[in-house]
Amino acid sequence: MEKFIYRFNNQGSNSSLNSKEILGGKGTSLAQMAKLGLPVPPGFTISTRVCEYFYKNSKKIPKKVIQESKKEINIIEKISKKKFGDLSNPLLVSVRSGSRVSMPGMMDTILNLGLNDKTVIALKNKTSNGRFAKDSYRRLIQMYANVVLGIEAHFFEELIENYKLTKGVIQDTELDESDWDGLIKNFKEVVKEKTKRDFPQDVNEQLWGAIKAVFLSWNSKRAKIYRKINYIPDDWGTAVNVQAMVFGNMGENCATGVAFTRNPSTGEKEFFGEYLVNAQGEDVVAGTRTPQYISKNLRKKSNSKGLSMEELMPKIFSQLKKIFNQLEKKYKDMQDIEFTVENNKLWMLQTRSGKRTAKAAIKIAVDMVKEKLISNKEAILRVDPNVLDTLLHPTLDEDAEKIVIASGLPASPGAASGKVAFSADEAERLKEQQQNTILVRVETSPEDINGMHAANGILTARGGMTSHAAVVARGMGRPCVSGSNEIKIDYENKFFKSNEHVIKEGDIITIDGGSGKVMLGKVPTVKPDISAEFSKLMGWADKIRKLKVRANSETPSDTKIARDFGAEGIGLCRTEHMFFEEKRIISVREMILSKTLDDRKKALAKLLPYQKNDFIEIFKIMNGLPVTVRLLDPPLHEFLPKTDKDIEDISKVLNISKQDIKSRIIELHEQNPMLGHRGCRLGISFPEIYQMQCQAIFEALAACKKKKLKLVIPEIMIPLVSTAAEIQILRKLVEKTAEEIQHKESIKIKYYVGTMIELPRAALRAKDIAKFADFFSFGTNDLTQTTFGISRDDAGKFLNDYVENKIFNKDPFVSIDERGVGELIKIAAERGRAQKKYLKLGICGEHGGDPASIEFCENIKLNYVSCSPYRVPIARLSAAQAFLKKNKKTN
Ligand code: ADP
Ligand code: MG
Ligand code: MG
Repeated sequence: MEKFIYRFNNQGSNSSLNSKEILGGKGTSLAQMAKLGLPVPPGFTISTRVCEYFYKNSKKIPKKVIQESKKEINIIEKISKKKFGDLSNPLLVSVRSGSRVSMPGMMDTILNLGLNDKTVIALKNKTSNGRFAKDSYRRLIQMYANVVLGIEAHFFEELIENYKLTKGVIQDTELDESDWDGLIKNFKEVVKEKTKRDFPQDVNEQLWGAIKAVFLSWNSKRAKIYRKINYIPDDWGTAVNVQAMVFGNMGENCATGVAFTRNPSTGEKEFFGEYLVNAQGEDVVAGTRTPQYISKNLRKKSNSKGLSMEELMPKIFSQLKKIFNQLEKKYKDMQDIEFTVENNKLWMLQTRSGKRTAKAAIKIAVDMVKEKLISNKEAILRVDPNVLDTLLHPTLDEDAEKIVIASGLPASPGAASGKVAFSADEAERLKEQQQNTILVRVETSPEDINGMHAANGILTARGGMTSHAAVVARGMGRPCVSGSNEIKIDYENKFFKSNEHVIKEGDIITIDGGSGKVMLGKVPTVKPDISAEFSKLMGWADKIRKLKVRANSETPSDTKIARDFGAEGIGLCRTEHMFFEEKRIISVREMILSKTLDDRKKALAKLLPYQKNDFIEIFKIMNGLPVTVRLLDPPLHEFLPKTDKDIEDISKVLNISKQDIKSRIIELHEQNPMLGHRGCRLGISFPEIYQMQCQAIFEALAACKKKKLKLVIPEIMIPLVSTAAEIQILRKLVEKTAEEIQHKESIKIKYYVGTMIELPRAALRAKDIAKFADFFSFGTNDLTQTTFGISRDDAGKFLNDYVENKIFNKDPFVSIDERGVGELIKIAAERGRAQKKYLKLGICGEHGGDPASIEFCENIKLNYVSCSPYRVPIARLSAAQAFLKKNKKTN
């Protein structure tokens, strides 16, 4: 028969019990602390299964649970030598919620159960402390009325506040027994008025009312919302803990407190916590009184006057210290602890893994290896790779004053301040004058790339987490807030409105891409300091991982960042980004507008030196590491002028009539450019474009050779291939160009030719394609688009509905869809390797920096992942974790 009730210090022989699932986090920790012999007030846990039963059986509690609970209460009575509802020595209990994972503040707890008009007198007489007894009773009424009877808390709080005002006191502790007597009377009147019933005097009615209320709190609105945000399943349910009360509010020898075994914001090994003398429960966090520090050190550091526990209650402090060490040894992690002191006796009420900042997470993990608490493999698995993001970008100074004027999606982390620019040109102009700038756009498009690069941060009014602005900003490591629909932009008059604020071009704002907030003026930021512990952890990760980590980068500055962060090569160098710069775009436009091959070749010849110099710069920085260069990919019309002014300018420079330009634009227009004349299709139609790009690559190599630099072996990548014939033809073009340059410069050039796999057909025909390819790079952004038939730029409109209806667990543009897109990758990898055993395989695209996708890549044995420079450390750590997880499974 199923066990529904578990006593804290007697879990029986069933030690294999997956306890958190059944006892909840709090119940488990109470049982484990009791087992360690720590002072835990006696009590028992009603399992989560009862919660399940409760909801399946029209909110009834099984009879068996009621009977067994009675027995357990008897046992508590025996241990504590008190009796529940007794008129001479009453036992009081707390009823505490506790689900598998902690949901701070989401669920309910009721203290001091068992008090009524009679037992409160007994408690007063027994303890000779009327103030304490009445204070406990009023707390019970407050909590019970709120949690069980659903009366809003403010009714009671206002009564207390008003009373204190008339009496002329500030602290609750200044109220005496008779004050509380009066308030209790008022509280009971509120209960009567709101529920048409008296406050329940039957202690068993109180107990079961509280237990049911805890079950019901699982489905409170706030708990449901919290679960949704944190991906916690709705069917887990909560356990209920019934526990003898211990009292921190009995006088000056009593206290209540919360503590972390280490500093949760820095990770420093120091006791970090606060306590209050003569207080109960959540008083410490409620903010009604200023809590005091636990340790002397921290009190001194913060110049606080209230004595620390170390000074005021030295014995308790040293006992706590011992317990902290014991708990860290048991859980091998930093603990967040709740305790109470009753008449100089310490009682432990809770312990759990403490929440911490990214910085602290790393320091604690590395320190615990030094302390031999955990192995370096465990340390690697401890740190959530995603949190590294916040460590690598400048962050807002926490202490600075902030005036928030709008908020949007936290699209790309980091904080930035600067003058508002409404166009890419303006952002570039400001950049040239060494001024910081925030590019503010309704949304961004590829032609804004240079402005985005010039800007310190990007703010858009429209677009989601995978909008153009968001993706490009993350790629560049620029902070970005996207989809802030509170801001209304007026491009023509150069201002935006946000609520009551009007911000003009040139005004300074600050954005925080980690929180999605937009602030007025310049909020000071602090530079991230890469700690010694961070480097240590990364070093361990590098030794363990098998996957190589490369970066997507096409500018010298990004390439430097990528190397600083540990990139082992460039996995994607997008040559078209090099085309947008002001001087070049004219030649690019000339090339596109050319009517004859000769004219086109002339324009290309002008571009050649620019491309060559770009490559020289990048090859220099990469110093012999592999660089994958993707030949031109986007449809040509992306480069054409859009506004009338642009058209006029270009018509003057190139001496082509505006009409001609306009008709060429119309000619190039495509219904569906993503599936149009782009990728290798351009190379087939205009081989001279790819020829020029290859020439630039090879001549750059020759130049590097002359400078005696360590030579990069370029990996020339043909995009959007779907047939073997395409790559066969284009490979010949690359080879022919290489031969010419080798001959002309009389050097021997080493290079590889490969393809992107970003179309389902390419994945299926991988075996043929591999005949002509030295490597495959999975372009998972486009492969996801083409597999689902979903355009990423338009997905924002319905993606939320898909996640809400559980059609997608996660946005497939963020995390690889393993069952579909992943299957295609697997097929392509297998078929490609069947043709060429040592075919090099990697992925580039947003997924290369996503921990779950990286795990997938490790599991199917790809050679590398490539991601944006700022995500390189995340990928390095994720790759090590993936390797460790895989080996754990197969062991
Ligand atoms: P939460 O999950 O919100 O932290 P808890 O069940 O831990 O709720 O209860 C909140 C606080 O109430 C605890 O921190 C503790 O101070 C106090 N508390 C709970 N049970 C008892 C008890 N048996 N004796 C004394 N204080 C208690
Ligand atoms: Mg708690
Ligand atoms: Mg692509």
